[in-house]
Amino acid sequence: MKNFILNFVLLFAFSLSVFGQQDSVDADVPSGDPIFAGAIELEEQKVVFDSLVAAQMAEDEENEAEEDSAFFENWDNSKLNPYGLKVTEVTDSFVVDCSNFCPPTQNVVTSEFGPRWARLHCGIDLRVKVGDSIRAAFDGKVRIKRVGSRRKGYGYFVLLRHPNGLETLYAHLSKILVEAEQEVKAGEVIALGGNTGRSTGPHLHFETRYQGIPINPRNIIDFNEFAVYDDNYLVTIKGSFKEWTDYVNSPAKYYKVRKGDCLSKIAKRHRTTVKRICRLNRITTKTVLRPGRRLRVR
Ligand SMILES: [Zn+2]
Repeated sequence: MKNFILNFVLLFAFSLSVFGQQDSVDADVPSGDPIFAGAIELEEQKVVFDSLVAAQMAEDEENEAEEDSAFFENWDNSKLNPYGLKVTEVTDSFVVDCSNFCPPTQNVVTSEFGPRWARLHCGIDLRVKVGDSIRAAFDGKVRIKRVGSRRKGYGYFVLLRHPNGLETLYAHLSKILVEAEQEVKAGEVIALGGNTGRSTGPHLHFETRYQGIPINPRNIIDFNEFAVYDDNYLVTIKGSFKEWTDYVNSPAKYYKVRKGDCLSKIAKRHRTTVKRICRLNRITTKTVLRPGRRLRVR
């Protein structure tokens, strides 16, 4: 906007000087002279042309501001998914520019995106050693830096937002080398690999998200070549969020309690956790389980 005002002032000063000159010409040349008429026409064209440039510049700056506001929509330093959208509500058929991709690490995949232990594993796990460089996948800005629990959840993690529309998450880190609000370039080392949070060995848990909802990184990245399949990735509700939709819509599963059962035994048998069973059934670990009771296990 500053630039626009400056340009406008310059343009105004320029117009004054042009018309000032004409005044002095006017004194010598009689009106109706063809040379003079031509000169006026030229100056008028010049002023019109400059106005067009100024208008275009104003429009460009407005567009930039609009892009900026889209980038900062739902900008929150604490919420993993600040969008709060259902999968059916995200923008369909959105083209993501992946041309500046850089692999966060170049190691083997040890666990895939998909249902795991009655939850959805929302990312891909890559083997790393503690202290390995973890790099930003695209240009972007740090939305969340969290020095979390050493035992629970993601542990130490970073979430970046990218101008291409994606967000990427890097978890179980041993050290974070960036701050919230910091701008980063694709390939920049943002953290060191580790084993913090719910993790049974050093690995990088890597997620790609669009408007808060995880997409299987394998849809975008070839983990054999450590490159993107295409410079443009098309986000579609049907294609990009299929696993997510299947998981969300998967039917509930029940189990009839037998004599001698306890919550931990039931949880183990159904590859879930005691905490989750308690939450699903609104019970506590102290609730007495009578044989024959139906418990929801997923
Ligand atoms: Zn993981």
